[in-house]
Amino acid sequence: MRFGTDILRQADVLAAFTEDPPGVTRTYLTPQHRQAGDYLASLMREAGMEARYDALGNVVGRYAAARSGAPVVMTGSHMDSVRDAGRYDGLFGILTAIACVRDLHRRGKRLPFDFEVVAFGDEEGVRFGVTLIGSKAMGGSFDPAWLDAKDAGGTTLRDALLAFGGDPEAWRSLDRRGKGVVAYVESHIEQGPVLLNEGLPVGVVTAIASGARVRVSATGRAGHAGTVPMGARRDALAAAAEMVLAVERIASAPGAGGSARVGTVGTIEARPGAINVIPQDVSFTVDVRSGDDAARRRATQAMREDFDAIARRRSVVVTSDVFYELPAAPCDPALQDALAASIASAASSSARAPSRSFSQSRRV
Ligand SMILES: [Zn+2]
Repeated sequence: MRFGTDILRQADVLAAFTEDPPGVTRTYLTPQHRQAGDYLASLMREAGMEARYDALGNVVGRYAAARSGAPVVMTGSHMDSVRDAGRYDGLFGILTAIACVRDLHRRGKRLPFDFEVVAFGDEEGVRFGVTLIGSKAMGGSFDPAWLDAKDAGGTTLRDALLAFGGDPEAWRSLDRRGKGVVAYVESHIEQGPVLLNEGLPVGVVTAIASGARVRVSATGRAGHAGTVPMGARRDALAAAAEMVLAVERIASAPGAGGSARVGTVGTIEARPGAINVIPQDVSFTVDVRSGDDAARRRATQAMREDFDAIARRRSVVVTSDVFYELPAAPCDPALQDALAASIASAASSSARAPSRSFSQSRRV
């Protein structure tokens, strides 16, 4: 049985539910969220599932087990998007799961567990600046203070939920801890080139990456671009340039035990920012990720030590502040093995790699 043609056609239908055609932009609790949710719920029902919106606007489909009282296996993904997104991000994990249920239903097969497919309303956090609202509620880490978060137009999450027909005060009822959920699995398009470069159709995620974010400030001394000799300068931007290269070098070095890291300087700002003035104050951010907490900590520490050494040599003052840290979340080994065996039975080979997208967030 091949499902690909149906899934691609359904993704095309969903791509039309967008706030800015022809690009795909679908944010939380908008009319486009409603259109996508209604369409997915109809697909779920056609596939033999019960489907409903929960209090926070997620669509939850259920394919009941052969017997009542069975444990629950959950899958699904997000139906919202970033601005000008691709048409398969998130939706792939929902549509493939519905396709599997449709086939089970057609063959009259029931599973030994209730199978739930969730289309999460918010993963990306584009509208309210809070990410993963639906899955955090289900995982028991929803913070009610988020209900007061506002979108760019000043509408609070609470009011948007009410207008959508949700129930902001019922977020506690979504908490699934201790309620018979034995596994959560998710299929997702790869948002990097690793599988593509290896020529592999699919891989198994070993861990949700750990991450650290560092804010760095370098302070030198401003001066006239024409009159201060090169040897007498304390140029904060030239120092920061060396620091950026240190991030790249440390992240690229092979880690202990083969643990891969990635490091990125994504923003940098130099002041006073005039063509004829030596930069005095530079701030930049570093994002470090790894599937391994210790490897990420070692890399981050090595970067900060290099920043200090570069600053000393160049007579600038540097401060670096780790303002966000997220531990790695290893995926269950038995589920990894089961998925790898299943892939091996259908494809010639598969890779295992950590996902370097964050699936949760925590401030330190
Ligand atoms: Zn995604």
